[in-house]
Amino acid sequence: MVHHIGGEKTEMNLIFFGSPGSGKGTLAKLLSSKLGIPHISPGDILREEVKKDSNLGRTAKPFMEKGELAPDEIILKMMEKRIAQSDCGKGFMLDGFPRTIAQAVGLDEMLSRTNRNIDRVLKFEVSVDCAMRRLGGRRICSVCGADFNLYTKPPLRENVCDICGGKLFQRADDQEEVILNRLKVYREETLPVEEHYNHQGKLIRINSEPDPDTVLKEILRVLNLGEG
Ligand code: ADP
Repeated sequence: MVHHIGGEKTEMNLIFFGSPGSGKGTLAKLLSSKLGIPHISPGDILREEVKKDSNLGRTAKPFMEKGELAPDEIILKMMEKRIAQSDCGKGFMLDGFPRTIAQAVGLDEMLSRTNRNIDRVLKFEVSVDCAMRRLGGRRICSVCGADFNLYTKPPLRENVCDICGGKLFQRADDQEEVILNRLKVYREETLPVEEHYNHQGKLIRINSEPDPDTVLKEILRVLNLGEG
């Protein structure tokens, strides 16, 4: 789990794996702030690039709008650059990557070039109904980025952020037809990645239907990080 190099360096490299709406992003953010290890989401990076209208953003946008995956080479290059940044010295938590077998193989290769590796893959399991509710009900603050959900965590005032008063919006790919396609792409292209890591003995399955604090406790328990 934790590598000891020269008796002192410690590093924890985790993958948060699961379908859209499984709660992996929410849990990755919670654990990231608890452990001070960066949370890296290619979806978040790509949405920023789309906002900036960069070359990368312009390439990824049509895929994202349809709920399809952006090309593997682009994602691999982007993630290699991100993981090499100095804030990943204590490790990293990948949320939404790898999402294809080619990405998983590419990740293994890029890590082994720098003598690093993935320690654990946490797979977040929810029913399709639960995932649909989470995605369809999701609303995000346009100012501070806080997450709400119309069904499970509604804002006190409709369309207004409880924290900063900003206006809430719905992600373009959280419309029902796009959600259905994202779930299909997950089943067809991403699910095989589970076996890749199961085979390596790194997979841990977690029931992600309970509330985030309960799931966080379970993560801390399975990673032997105590209740704390
Ligand atoms: P979710 O996991 O809820 O579908 P994300 O924010 O992780 O949402 O991703 C949003 C979109 O960004 C995806 O539908 C896809 O188009 C693109 N994307 C994110 N991660 C990857 C990846 N690893 N490979 C290819 N495309 C990706």
